[in-house]
Amino acid sequence: MLLNDAAYWQQLFQNDTILSVTQWLVPMLTGNALTGKLRCLNNMYFSSPSVQNAVGKLHSSEWCPTVPKPCPFLKFARHQRGTHPDLGPWRSAPPQQATPSTKLGMDALPLQSVQKANRQPFRLNVMVVGESGLGKTTFMNTLFNTDLVSEIVPEEPTKTVKISPITYELIEGKTTLQLTIIDTPGFGDRLDRSEDINPLVRYIENQYQAYWDAEKISSIRKPTFDTRVHVCLYFISPSGHSLKAHDVLALQELSSRVNVIPIIAKADTMTQREKKLFKQTILQDLSLHAIPIYPTAYSEHHETLEHLEQHIPFTVIGSEVGLQKDEKPIRGRQYDWGIVEVENENHCDFIHLREILFITCLAELVEITHTRHYHDYRASHLRKDGRPPSILECDEEYDRRIEDARKSISERLQRKDEEIRQNFVQLARHQELALRKKEEKVCMSHRFSFQHKELMEDIEREKASLASEEEAFLQTLESRQSVKAGKR
Ligand code: GDP
Ligand code: MG
Repeated sequence: MLLNDAAYWQQLFQNDTILSVTQWLVPMLTGNALTGKLRCLNNMYFSSPSVQNAVGKLHSSEWCPTVPKPCPFLKFARHQRGTHPDLGPWRSAPPQQATPSTKLGMDALPLQSVQKANRQPFRLNVMVVGESGLGKTTFMNTLFNTDLVSEIVPEEPTKTVKISPITYELIEGKTTLQLTIIDTPGFGDRLDRSEDINPLVRYIENQYQAYWDAEKISSIRKPTFDTRVHVCLYFISPSGHSLKAHDVLALQELSSRVNVIPIIAKADTMTQREKKLFKQTILQDLSLHAIPIYPTAYSEHHETLEHLEQHIPFTVIGSEVGLQKDEKPIRGRQYDWGIVEVENENHCDFIHLREILFITCLAELVEITHTRHYHDYRASHLRKDGRPPSILECDEEYDRRIEDARKSISERLQRKDEEIRQNFVQLARHQELALRKKEEKVCMSHRFSFQHKELMEDIEREKASLASEEEAFLQTLESRQSVKAGKR
């Protein structure tokens, strides 16, 4: 069935002449249509009559006899999951075309970029890696046509790889280039070379981390000084053989973190044929070990770079000596038999490499460093705590997790409800018991006070009868005494 065929969708909508809808609906359907996006599509866009019309056609047997009626998009989305970059749930409808009635002068907009570029210096951080003596320092001086790196004396073999970044400011006309050269003397000097790559990897990652840290602090976010490695020039010894094991290891480690451009050093030591064969061998090795190199593995403008890509890996010659040829100053190496010229494309690929670095791809190198390598670094760190690699992959997982979370919350709430109810019942029982006891007590005290009252009344009554008896007795006594006194 044609459900996952972009051309089918295209034709489906074009036949219906709903071109405006086709413009955005077809990419959406053939791109990563997530469950969430489909919901959004259903909710938002399907309210548009033209889309409803298209969807109606889609469901009708005339247009799409085998599409299941309930929701073909959902099925399509599930089928296409993970095959295209995720466009995100924030995707909105494309802008509508409008032609201004009067000239706005928009064609001058690119000038703003030029002015901005003139105001702000360009930055390029270049790491040079390769065994000592391959001519890295000489090459960097040749490349920038100035004595940037002063040491030319052979370096003492060091115990560890030293990383020494030096920043230069090169000014040409109105343009300023802040260039940082990160030399790595000591790389490959030891017998056991497997460890040599670690300091380089650490350095690269430290720069990503520093940039990330700076980004988190809003006050220093704007002038964040970019020390990330934008390009790594990897110098390969002109041996004519396959890549050495430690070169493969280093290239693998570096190319997974930065843009790597492989370079064959000291091209003047090889014949034309040897250079050609060596290039083929290296390219085979790179593809065998799945080592992505710049620009082949990255650039989106392959057609504009084809004339440069055919020279990869670039052969170079370094020379800091100015020579004369036909009374013109040139850079080259003087031998007994003649001169090899740095900028002669029959002698080496120096001019092509320079074009890639400064004319065609400087901005792209910086951009890829930010959008690919730096984000890969951040993503790998963020994923450490178990986050899924992309929204796309977590789509189903996410729904399930939300469902699980919802379930567990409702269970927890139910348990809590039950607990509260039990507590309440318990409390009520306690209260009831206490009240009952109180009532009994009150009753008791009532009864007691009633008895007390009765007793008191009895006492009072007895008191009164006693008093009357006493009075009667006294009267009797008095009358007897008076009778006695009369007799006398
Ligand atoms: P590094 O250790 O890689 O920085 O190498 P250097 O730049 O210090 O160069 C080491 C030696 O190689 C010096 O004597 C240079 O003159 C020489 N050298 C540099 N580039 C070339 C080159 O392209 N061809 C040849 N034949 N020798 C070179
Ligand atoms: Mg050096």
